[in-house]
Amino acid sequence: MSGFLPDQPGAEVRVSPNFGPRRDRPRPDMIVLHYTGMASGAGAEAWLCDPASEVSSHYLVHEDGRIIQMVRESDRAWHAGKSSWFGHTDINSCSVGIEIVNPGHSLGYKAFPKRQVDAVIELCSGIVDRYSIPAARVLAHSDVAPGRKIDPGEKFPWKALFAAGVGHLVPAAPIVPGAALKTGDTGSDVEALQSMLALYGYGVEISGAYDRQTEIVVGAFQRHFRRRRVDGVADNSTIRTLERLLASVKAAAIKQSR
Ligand SMILES: [Zn+2]
Repeated sequence: MSGFLPDQPGAEVRVSPNFGPRRDRPRPDMIVLHYTGMASGAGAEAWLCDPASEVSSHYLVHEDGRIIQMVRESDRAWHAGKSSWFGHTDINSCSVGIEIVNPGHSLGYKAFPKRQVDAVIELCSGIVDRYSIPAARVLAHSDVAPGRKIDPGEKFPWKALFAAGVGHLVPAAPIVPGAALKTGDTGSDVEALQSMLALYGYGVEISGAYDRQTEIVVGAFQRHFRRRRVDGVADNSTIRTLERLLASVKAAAIKQSR
């Protein structure tokens, strides 16, 4: 294929050969945000278009705000890998993937420039509008692949997106001293925590035991929704924030059904 018209007005097109057909649903109903985790944006763009890499994303957003489309939105890009949300594991088939240029945690993680964030907002708004994607399905790679992935990371400005009408967020509950659920704990409180995480969409086994996977998923939750402390310990603030988030989804669903 030599090229295509961009789905997002204003995006530049650089075709990646790394894609296939969407498997079980014709239209995306989720956005997954990533960082590139490479030294340069140009290098990341080349890698995502290299047949040898066997990875791709629909879009890449450079630090200067330039948006590159590499895979058509109607096709399945290869960005999410082994992942799950609400028990659905073929995230590549249901999502649009956006790679945001940033060296990432291992090469000098840094703040995302405003121009880049503005471009991400504009792009996400366009995709949300085209497919009526629910706010709570604009997610981090770390949300759908906890334990394996931590991008786009705790510096990603979810608040700025939310303020512009993209994604789902509630104010994080304040961190206060007190008891917390942590690795090794067991019982109904742990089970309730796991159930709430699963009710939001996270892939967590509801066992009543605060095991390694629970710690990892709590960390993923914190990285997105309670960024001040990402430690995998379910303190009062983490649990209250999760409760607020679920209450807000429920309120939005009731509003929509009226
Ligand atoms: Zn990623």
